[in-house]
Amino acid sequence: MFRCSEVADRASRLIDGELGFWPLLNMRLHLAMCRGCRAFIQQMRTTCDLTQIAGAMQDVAVHEPAYAEDIQEALARRRALRRRNLRSG
Ligand SMILES: [Zn+2]
Repeated sequence: MFRCSEVADRASRLIDGELGFWPLLNMRLHLAMCRGCRAFIQQMRTTCDLTQIAGAMQDVAVHEPAYAEDIQEALARRRALRRRNLRSG
């Protein structure tokens, strides 16, 4: 089974689905037992997803300005909704 540092070293390859059978098995075993590494991997996945979304939105903004406006409006609505929920919650 991997140690925490070995999990950290291989985190991006795990997320990209590039680990072979044995490294993946070692990784899963470690993650089943280590809450800290699970949180770390989860956070990395979120960061990775957000980076991809930001990149995709940038592409839309460059190639489809009309859609970019729709996205901006949708984001503004979500921000407003979140602010309202924070205030009432
Ligand atoms: Zn760990």
